[in-house]
Amino acid sequence: MDAAILDGETEPPDCGFDARENGADPEEPPSPTPLFPSFPQAPGDFAPTPLPSFLRRQFPGATRRDWNDWRWQIARRITSQEQADRLLRLSGPERAALGQARTTLPLAVTPYYARLLDPDDPAQPLRRMVLPSPQEARRAPGEADDPLSEDACSPVPGLVHRYPNRVLFLTTDFCSTYCRYCTRSRQVGAACAPGAPAVAHAPERLRARWRLGLDYITRTPAIQDVLLSGGDPLTMPDEALDWLLTQLRAIRHVQIVRIGTKVPAVLPMRVTPALTRMLKKHHPLWMSLHFAHPAELTEDTRTACARLADAGIPLGSQTVLLAGINDEPGVMARLLQGLLGFRVRPYYLYQCDPISGSAHFRTPAARGVELLRALRGRLSGYALPTFVIDAPGGGGKIPLAPDYTLGYSGDDLVLRNYAGGLYRYPDPAGAACAPPQPAMSKGAA
Ligand code: SF4
Repeated sequence: MDAAILDGETEPPDCGFDARENGADPEEPPSPTPLFPSFPQAPGDFAPTPLPSFLRRQFPGATRRDWNDWRWQIARRITSQEQADRLLRLSGPERAALGQARTTLPLAVTPYYARLLDPDDPAQPLRRMVLPSPQEARRAPGEADDPLSEDACSPVPGLVHRYPNRVLFLTTDFCSTYCRYCTRSRQVGAACAPGAPAVAHAPERLRARWRLGLDYITRTPAIQDVLLSGGDPLTMPDEALDWLLTQLRAIRHVQIVRIGTKVPAVLPMRVTPALTRMLKKHHPLWMSLHFAHPAELTEDTRTACARLADAGIPLGSQTVLLAGINDEPGVMARLLQGLLGFRVRPYYLYQCDPISGSAHFRTPAARGVELLRALRGRLSGYALPTFVIDAPGGGGKIPLAPDYTLGYSGDDLVLRNYAGGLYRYPDPAGAACAPPQPAMSKGAA
């Protein structure tokens, strides 16, 4: 366990569970973390085991107070086949993948997220996202370890400068839970490697690397916007993050700081009152939260998002489109609508990057466009993210969207609405500028 992660916070965590100790309940109550209640569960949805039973079976002697402590959660992550075996009925492929010599990305799952995994169903979406598959060892044509050429856009270690006025600051290579489709699987997870130094995230070591990035930002006045990512910045102690945010805030031309994190989905107890008090000092601060499936929208996650929103932090979501996980309109609708209910504005839906060994996660790119077309009109516009492909080779994010324009008919622009109906908008000025078009059929309104 990384000792430094355990440093630096004394406030007792509170993540929405009541204060009763494990084992005090004469009868087990229903699960304290029901799925977002506004959405009917789909066949195959999994209801988590009530917490007292889960603790008794998986972590004998642990209390609710332990469970609500994010440092306890990190220290007790599931990181080995033996631990996974106690938790789940492993399938043959899962067992084979766990038995392989470690490739790039280690196994790590917080107890909190592990409780959401269905022990009996290897096809459960949440389980597929965190348990390795033998398919990760197969590199398909077009895949690469660094498909976005981030390394080529890195002026100093830990910083990616692709767009003129903003940079990506890779603060740490540590995440509490590793996603099997991670774009940075080549970089994250070293702290879990056998023999890795226990102080990989010690503040002094981090600061030495951060100073290179801070120096670069200081001497590059075009940079107005810094995105802290990693790894997951919220796995760091409050003091380390506070130090970094303070340094960034001292750079006059840095106007906006954003933090990218999956913590509210995989470790919601990390969002303590102490953390949000610290973050509030550094406004304007924005956050991009990583969610992939509606089953991640638990009451604990709702509490974490509410704390961040109450701290005045605008929350956006980022979701990777994943085959068999969230590529059905009903599943995506539950996720997007649920996020709005959690005060999180869906921001980006990403086509899965072609990292090595990710073919089993990728859908055809057209699937994302179809999804948005299916959801337009069914959900509020606030719930609809921008679907993008992050162009391989470093081209940046390129949006893909359904096209609702059919062209001009006389002075009218002919449009198709979400339900397929055709409508005319009088636009003589636009028609005058439009290139000549074949005459539209009579069916075009
Ligand atoms: S939380 Fe983000 S950085 Fe960490 S493994 Fe998942 S996708 Fe990668």
